[in-house]
Amino acid sequence: MTISIALVAHDAKKDDMVAWATDNAATLKSMTIFATGTTGGRLIEGAGLDVTRLKSGPLGGDAQLGALIAEGKLNGLVFFIDPLSALPHDVDVKSLLRLAILYDTPMAVNRASATAILDMLAEREA
Ligand code: PGA
Repeated sequence: MTISIALVAHDAKKDDMVAWATDNAATLKSMTIFATGTTGGRLIEGAGLDVTRLKSGPLGGDAQLGALIAEGKLNGLVFFIDPLSALPHDVDVKSLLRLAILYDTPMAVNRASATAILDMLAEREA
């Protein structure tokens, strides 16, 4: 079974996400990748990944990822949250995190935890 992973980054963290995904591109390429709209575009352009792009986060992309978790279609979530800004779609972010907790979906919020989760998922795949 192919592992499915979702990648999301708030604007201030998108450079970080592209850098992390580039460093881990070899592993990510063996997985099915979902991303919110803008993050997905950056990952396709900047990291050369094949990504299924959902709507932009504030326009429902976070909610779409929550639905994928509820349907049991995501094995992991990497969400680089901006720790310094208040965002208008904070309720969607909270809802996504709540569903990840509820369904016990492995979840990472920074580079160190993202690498740990990716390595764990890659091992599960092997
Ligand atoms: P984006 O959405 O990738 O479309 O910017 C991310 C978010 O803000 O949840």
